[in-house]
Amino acid sequence: MKCPFCGNEMSEGTLTSGRYIQWKAVDGETGKKQEYLLAKSYMGGAKMEGWLCPYCRKLVLDIPEL
Ligand SMILES: [Zn+2]
Repeated sequence: MKCPFCGNEMSEGTLTSGRYIQWKAVDGETGKKQEYLLAKSYMGGAKMEGWLCPYCRKLVLDIPEL
């Protein structure tokens, strides 16, 4: 997916929370950093699929139905 902000190729992966909120790229993503520690978290167990742009540091996430 192209970043809607800068037009560069984004990294596909999941956003998870535990002790930290962390982005982890899907298997097969190459040429980019595979994991990003985004923030410390006091939530637990949330997981959202989406895309990360390492160039302008944006996330595009699919919001799950509750
Ligand atoms: Zn971008």
